Amino acid sequence: MVTAVRRAGERGATVRPTGASARVPGALVRTSDLLLDCSALTGVVAVSADRVLVRAGERLAALFAELAASGRSLAVVPDAPGLTVGGAVGMGVYGGAPGEGSLSAQVVAARLVDGRGVVRRVSGPELDAVRCGLGALGVLTAVELRTVELERMQVHEQAGRLDAVLAEDVLRAHGWTELDVAVPSGQVIARWADPVDPDRVPVPAAPGTVTTRAAVRAEAWGRAVSRLASNPPWASWPPPARWTPGTEGRPYEVLPDPQPWDPDTAEWAIPAEALGSALRELGAAATARGMELQRPVRVRLGAAETGLLHPAQGRDTAWLRIRTRASQEPLRRLAGAVLEDASGRPSWTSRHEWGPDELAVAYPGWAEFQRVRDEYDPDRRFTDPNLERILGP
Ligand SMILES: Cc1cc2nc3c(=O)[nH]c(=O)nc-3n(C[C@H](O)[C@H](O)[C@H](O)COP(=O)(O)OP(=O)(O)OC[C@H]3O[C@@H](n4cnc5c(N)ncnc54)[C@H](O)[C@@H]3O)c2cc1C
Repeated sequence: MVTAVRRAGERGATVRPTGASARVPGALVRTSDLLLDCSALTGVVAVSADRVLVRAGERLAALFAELAASGRSLAVVPDAPGLTVGGAVGMGVYGGAPGEGSLSAQVVAARLVDGRGVVRRVSGPELDAVRCGLGALGVLTAVELRTVELERMQVHEQAGRLDAVLAEDVLRAHGWTELDVAVPSGQVIARWADPVDPDRVPVPAAPGTVTTRAAVRAEAWGRAVSRLASNPPWASWPPPARWTPGTEGRPYEVLPDPQPWDPDTAEWAIPAEALGSALRELGAAATARGMELQRPVRVRLGAAETGLLHPAQGRDTAWLRIRTRASQEPLRRLAGAVLEDASGRPSWTSRHEWGPDELAVAYPGWAEFQRVRDEYDPDRRFTDPNLERILGP
């Protein structure tokens, strides 16, 4: 990596570090210059009591499996096990643990090659720039992550109404949670998971306590029947069941939702307390313009983060994943406008129109991030036209 960055410097080329996206570059790793594929930089270097030192190209699936062998895990389990550690930290990938930050929040130290080809070990305040650093500060070669005890989780899902689910604070009541919300009808599939007591004597679930697929479908269709009759797109409701009732397993085996990532997904991070009003506003705005969200909005919570450019920086956050179609660009933009009004910040994963002006207002640590960028990459080795549009020159 050092040689690659130095040679790029000699040639005056720019560099974009990439992990799992190496073969299908996402927006932040699209360049006509040098794409530095870090995915071969694999391997766990050391596992200690509550830390793991891992090379940045390691896939999350491999990392989880290695940690499990030592009875450890990560507090955050993202959906895609194929992501690399460097890409997940570089973008601040979140999971569904309401009391935890993203994967970048689990980083306690990092090693990176800066824009002049110098290796830096980062563990002080500048680590907050490196978390969710978007590949703009250097090439991560290894990171040290906090680990947690590996526990088996039991997963559940149940149909309900948004108002009731929010009133009962279901999203915060469990170790892992997510909602699929039909907007604007307010129907919800709530999913949650909690650690299984290892000393528990297993008992068969009483009838009715475990939600069956049929029950979910009956409840949801019962409430939506008049709408469904006139509106075939909601044939996708309820969303397919994720698990058979009573499923339990290791977090990384049962929690990820292995759906392909749709490039037309609009994903926003809003203050957690604004969730109910933002969803209602989104439904009202879409209805008023005759638009229709044809797939449920996926909602998860995450804790406030210190990463300077992490969308959950400084506030407990609700993540809203709005899956639109390519033909629904106006709806994607409308959703963006509504969620921006709710103090939302766009996820780095999804398309957005934000640039330095918006970022400087939305992120209190913007100036500090730019200071670290100037120090780590004074020649702007790690940029490309797209990143320049977002972060500025
Ligand atoms: C199927 C699927 C499911 C997903 N589920 C989730 C989810 O549950 N939660 C969520 O938050 N996101 C999710 N995402 C989006 C995810 O955040 C990004 O796709 C992910 O960060 C990309 O990881 P990657 O290894 O492909 O990195 P890349 O796409 O290659 O890179 C991501 C960013 O990190 C930088 N980077 C990569 N490697 C390095 C390195 N070694 N050093 C420095 N910078 C580096 C890149 O320059 C870029 O800015 C999902 C994506 C997919 C495809």
